[in-house]
Amino acid sequence: MTDTGTTTETGTTTVPVLDDGDHDRFAHYVVQDDLARSKATGEPVRALCGKIWTPERDPKRYPVCPTCKEIAARWETRGSN
Ligand SMILES: [Zn+2]
Repeated sequence: MTDTGTTTETGTTTVPVLDDGDHDRFAHYVVQDDLARSKATGEPVRALCGKIWTPERDPKRYPVCPTCKEIAARWETRGSN
C-alpha cells in the first residue's frame, strides 16, 4: 500500500492569498500546490483570475477577489457533481 498522498482531478485545493500589488488589494485564490511551491522557491504564483504575483502577507484583512471567488465556486460545484 502506497502512502504518498491522494490526488484527484476534482480535488484541487485553492487558498486565498493577498495580492501585494499597489492598487487592488484583494485576497486572490491560488492552487494550494502552487502556493507551496512559491513559498519554497520564491517564484510568483498565478491566481485563478490570472493575476501573477509573489505572495507575502496575511490575506485575511482583505476582501476576496470577486473573479477568483466566482471561479473557485465553479470548481467546487463541478467537483461535487
Ligand atoms: Zn483574483
